[in-house]
Amino acid sequence: MMQNSQVKNAIRGEIYWLTLILTIGLIVGFLLENISLVLVFALSFYIFFHLVQLAKVLKWIASGRMVQTPNTHGVWNEFVRQALKLERKNQKRKKRLRALLNRFNKVLAALPDAIVILDEYGGVEWFNESARHLLNMRHARDLGRHITHSLENRAFIKYYNQQDFDNSLNIHWPKKGDFYLNIRIARYGKKQYLLSARDITRMRQLEGVRNLFVANVSHELRTPLTVVAGYLELLSDTDNSQAGADIQALQPIFAQMNQQADRMTNLLDDLLMLSNLENKENHDSTLNETICIADMMRDIHRDAQMLKREDRYSVSCDIDKGLALIGNAKELHSAFNNLVTNALRYTPAGGEIKIIWMKKNNQACFSVQDNGIGIEAKHINRITERFYRVDKGRSRNTGGTGLGLAIVKHVLHKHNANLNVASEFGKGSCFTCVFPEHRIRYLFDNP
Ligand code: ADP
Repeated sequence: MMQNSQVKNAIRGEIYWLTLILTIGLIVGFLLENISLVLVFALSFYIFFHLVQLAKVLKWIASGRMVQTPNTHGVWNEFVRQALKLERKNQKRKKRLRALLNRFNKVLAALPDAIVILDEYGGVEWFNESARHLLNMRHARDLGRHITHSLENRAFIKYYNQQDFDNSLNIHWPKKGDFYLNIRIARYGKKQYLLSARDITRMRQLEGVRNLFVANVSHELRTPLTVVAGYLELLSDTDNSQAGADIQALQPIFAQMNQQADRMTNLLDDLLMLSNLENKENHDSTLNETICIADMMRDIHRDAQMLKREDRYSVSCDIDKGLALIGNAKELHSAFNNLVTNALRYTPAGGEIKIIWMKKNNQACFSVQDNGIGIEAKHINRITERFYRVDKGRSRNTGGTGLGLAIVKHVLHKHNANLNVASEFGKGSCFTCVFPEHRIRYLFDNP
């Protein structure tokens, strides 16, 4: 209110002066008998006065030294006062922002994770203290440099060039001892990037210990289990006529023990497969075989036919014979086999199973479609977790270990592929493995 009245007073004062000048001009003009000339003279004087004031104000603003206010009059005085007020307000805001920025910088600097800000071309704009320790970055060398030159790591360069930052990346970082880093890049603002790197060495070590433990336990259990299973088989194979009545009476028990021993063997095999997959996760060398999927499917189809109830199913295949994959044959065989046996296990007798292998939109797709029991939507996101089963009883009765889809997920991840699951409860499911273009090969001379 106060401010408004000051502005109003200044304008009022200005109108007062203008009226006074015009009145004096009119009176003098009347006395000199030349009103228009005197009025022009009076107005010129008025304009000249304002031009002088304007020049002073412009000089003052251009000098940037706002504290040294110019010697102005009338409405210009009020103008300078308002400009000064605005400037003080700005200064206060700047101070507040600077304090906020300092606090933010201190927080970022204190973070244990390395933080690097990148411009739209990948140049390093800023990094925190942890980036110096963790990534070995130096201001003089790395500011303005492209991030792939500062973080020279094959896996990271590939990750950065793909520009797909939905997932994070784990890399081995030997520059500062035997480090493992988890790197994540997030887009923000206008084409800017924030890279964060976390030391996951300890976590990797613990994971390694866990994997080794599971692998060793599975391995150690296998030998005694093979012996027990062998004897059980011998006992259940005993010729009825020669066996004593006691042994014959125990046959149903032996059969059950045999079945459980088989389950345990399957479980150990799957556990070993999983820990092998995890241990070999970063070795590309195991992933460069050219695999003819048509041949592999022939084996899987034959195995499926050997499953006891298979004759009551219709299994059809639609295979592109020339379409091959670059990867690990043993692992892919295990993944595809798991999907096919799942389809057989979760489809009631008389059902239809369709296996499709073909190229779609530059990607290679392996699908297993069934018209079995299907999966409720709420379970779909969790079925690839270890030991997650929708119906434990059914899974066990059909020889499931609860690890099949976890193996599939791992194998696909290693092959840069994705698993898509479409299912309708009570109607059936379709599991599709989608492989990227760089894993596809064409076997033109394939029959
Ligand atoms: P399991 O050995 O129990 O089959 P998996 O990891 O292979 O373990 O599968 C996890 C769960 O996903 C299964 O227990 C089952 O409930 C569900 N599932 C997998 N495949 C199918 C399918 N084709 N149809 C219906 N449910 C399925």
